[in-house]
Amino acid sequence: MPDSGSPRRDPEIPKSARVSDEVKYTTCYMCACRCGIKVHLKDGGIRYIEGNRDHPVNRGVLCAKGSAGIMQHYSPARLRKPLKRVGPRGSGEFQEIEWEEALATAVEWLGAIRARDPKELAFFTGRDQSQALTGWWATQFGTLNYAAHGGFCSVNMAAAGLYTIGGSFWEFGEPDWERTKYFLLFGVAEDHDSNPIKLGLGKLKGRGAKVVSVNPVRTGYSAIADEWVAIRPGTDGLLVLALVHELLRAGKIDADYLAAYTNAPWLVIDAEGTADHGLFARGADGAALVWDRKRSALVSASDAEAMPALTGERRLPDGRRAVPAFELMARRYLDPRYAPDAVAAETGVPAATIKRLAAEIAHVAFGEAIVLDRPWTDARGRQHATMLGRPVAMHAMRGISAHSNGFHTCRALHLLQMLLGAVDTPGSFRYEPPYPRPIPPAIKPAGPAAAGKPLAGPPLGFPRGPEELLVDGARKPLRIDKAYSWEAPLAAHGLLHLVVLNAWKRDPYPIDTLFLYMANMSWNSAMNTAEAMKMLADRDEKTGDYRIPRIIYSDAYASEMVAYADLVLPDTTYLERYDCISLLDRPISDGNGAADAIRQPVLEPDRDVRPFQDVLIDLGARLKLPGFVDAGGKPKYPGLYPDYIVNHERRPGMGPLAGWRGANGTAHGLGAVNPNQLERYVEHQCFWRAEIPEEARFYKFANRAYLDWAKAMGFLDRAEPVVLQLYSETLQKFRLAAQGHGAVQPPPEHRERVAAYFDPLPIWYRPFEEADGSAGFPLHAITQRPAAMYHSWGSQNAWLRQIHGENALHINRATAAALGIEDGDWVSVASRHGRIVVRAKTMEGVNPDTVWTWNAIGKRAGAWNLDPKAAESQRGFLLNHLIAELLPPREGGYRYANADPVTGQAAWYDLRVRIEKAPAATDASEPHFVAAKSPPLAARPKVLRYGAKFRPREGKP
Ligand code: SF4
Repeated sequence: MPDSGSPRRDPEIPKSARVSDEVKYTTCYMCACRCGIKVHLKDGGIRYIEGNRDHPVNRGVLCAKGSAGIMQHYSPARLRKPLKRVGPRGSGEFQEIEWEEALATAVEWLGAIRARDPKELAFFTGRDQSQALTGWWATQFGTLNYAAHGGFCSVNMAAAGLYTIGGSFWEFGEPDWERTKYFLLFGVAEDHDSNPIKLGLGKLKGRGAKVVSVNPVRTGYSAIADEWVAIRPGTDGLLVLALVHELLRAGKIDADYLAAYTNAPWLVIDAEGTADHGLFARGADGAALVWDRKRSALVSASDAEAMPALTGERRLPDGRRAVPAFELMARRYLDPRYAPDAVAAETGVPAATIKRLAAEIAHVAFGEAIVLDRPWTDARGRQHATMLGRPVAMHAMRGISAHSNGFHTCRALHLLQMLLGAVDTPGSFRYEPPYPRPIPPAIKPAGPAAAGKPLAGPPLGFPRGPEELLVDGARKPLRIDKAYSWEAPLAAHGLLHLVVLNAWKRDPYPIDTLFLYMANMSWNSAMNTAEAMKMLADRDEKTGDYRIPRIIYSDAYASEMVAYADLVLPDTTYLERYDCISLLDRPISDGNGAADAIRQPVLEPDRDVRPFQDVLIDLGARLKLPGFVDAGGKPKYPGLYPDYIVNHERRPGMGPLAGWRGANGTAHGLGAVNPNQLERYVEHQCFWRAEIPEEARFYKFANRAYLDWAKAMGFLDRAEPVVLQLYSETLQKFRLAAQGHGAVQPPPEHRERVAAYFDPLPIWYRPFEEADGSAGFPLHAITQRPAAMYHSWGSQNAWLRQIHGENALHINRATAAALGIEDGDWVSVASRHGRIVVRAKTMEGVNPDTVWTWNAIGKRAGAWNLDPKAAESQRGFLLNHLIAELLPPREGGYRYANADPVTGQAAWYDLRVRIEKAPAATDASEPHFVAAKSPPLAARPKVLRYGAKFRPREGKP
């Protein structure tokens, strides 16, 4: 351009504008990953949120949800004051009251229950992150009717892991992202473990590792996988056992690993019809026996000199026969019914693909093994010059968990890992401290407490046999959710999804008060929405009283559940309170270190709300629960939750936070109370991390250095090895009871079921809904979670709603064409339980027998302070309307829960449907429920804008 001769004036750009007055570190809570964040504050408001680059979880990465925390914090759906119901339940008519009245009411109700029968209180929480506190509160109150949301989410995965390898996937273990060469994802949703998996996948992609996603739907992680295996829902276990078949057939297993670290060589008594059949042969000291190939003798499995045999029938000293667990396992899975050709039709995965996957896995595990030049000593004193690794890693989540065969599917996956020698070896799955734990963890679920007394122990635990179930003399359940009864013996997380139903049915007994925190039970935390709403508001025909007499609810937002509460205790947002991400609960550790974290308030609440944890501690003190008051009856934690976080000791030296303990803050793991502990956390960006010593980072279950370190940190009571349980004696004990052995046996009506599903080796069976009631319902219907949303919180967030404002039912194009359905058509979707009308979207990336939608987008009109005509309530929908809590009646009329028979996990991914074009033209989804009145909330702006005031004006940075 020719020079005009006049001086050029560049526009003034404020290159170093001051974006914030102050930056506060805390922990994100826009999903469950617990990333570190820096909240930039300006003029008393949030300017923006940034990822913390120093944080071990996210290394600075912040996702769309994390950034949108601003709109969560300023949401017009925030409750603003305690509420007392003044209209009928469900009407949404409330009166705002003072905290003193709210707390006095709660104390009056709860105090009377505790004096009468503490189990009349059912206290259940949703996806909160303070279960170490809430569980302890329930213990001190004396109610065994306590759990969080795990029974609805992924207890199959957690229980199968803890009963098999002493740890599990999800946030308790991770792939060795630095070394894995072959990564298999089974049913993993994009909103769980979100940033860590994204970061990890980036590393794998960068190194050229192969990523295989086994999932009926190709979204999120599946979309970037190198290979997508479009499995039919509920058949993952069969696919995995076919892989096991192929590996056994080819001899591609790590026999040394199996012999040294698993119970594969332990001898199993073969004495059909006796009380010991299927149990381990044990010596006089109680230790399991193995056959030593070197000495040709029976020796203790813990004998460091033994060279245990994996096969061969042996005679025990008393003349009975016994065979190693490995041989029983191999005999079963070498059977042709597990051959790829035999399972291809059922799984929807071609036999050639299964064979190729098995061959690829075997090649990477054994042909590309890793050897780390890192000497270590095992728990029996044997020295190892190197660490051998099998670089095949697996990760699984709700996709395999939320089926009625999920427990065994998860066990099958762990079996596959063990056969490969791919549990906590370089390149494979890695435990995150405090895992591994003894198998199962040594916590028994506590039975009922007497009036006015605490429980004898925690309400949730891990039964090791029938004698540890919670059943009465008539063998009936002792808990309202029937956890730890013969219907769900290993219900390690309780059964949130059955509480409303059982409380309404008064089965096994009536309760007085349902106390819920962050559990949207009248909407998408229930198996069946319409039924749940009816039950919550239903009245006794004779007395006219509500069948569930009282409901107390705490939440930060006006969710659908609020309308059903009698008393509402408004919580703060996650940026207005202290929280504790504890090693006693769900920590933020990784394969190389133990870590925990806090949230600190970055802003003062501008409403009359209180942190739920503060309220719970206040209630504990007002109720004079042991542990919440001192000897003189005064509150033990007058400073409420921050005071508790610092001063509470679960046992001497062990508190909610492991960092900077001891009077001067120099102890880590265990140590005396440090009055300045919270200040240390704030100084250190709100997290603490302790590196595992280099030589202790793999083979943690048997690594002397790790076991000693873990004991010193307080993660293990004893520095003893954890033997991986390929064969589960615990399951066999339940089966023996069902076969008529032992002092505690199931009632006749449950025997067949317990005997069938408590198999000591993994089994696969058709999900119940498919096996029992799918005639006329040819398609599977499942949900996926979008990366941009988390549960129902996200779909009221002004920014995230712009990503997913409504949902559709996604159908495979060929399937849709065969049904005469086109993209955008409205379709009727029927299950054996109900019918919905929704909009269809066609796509290629879904198994042809499966339809799916994003979860938790649909909202009830009137809730969350959204416009009554918002897309979420007009065109959004839930599949929950179609899901039944109970299976069809069996002979005699009894109806089991629609759940896994081992753990009671809700089987909401078992849903089967029929779809057809909707008969009439429409532009709205069905069903629709009468809009509840909104509780008093802030005015809802027509257009929600944020941030304009921060824009620099000309001449002003
Ligand atoms: S992954 Fe979850 S915790 Fe991490 S930034 Fe995103 S929303 Fe927050």
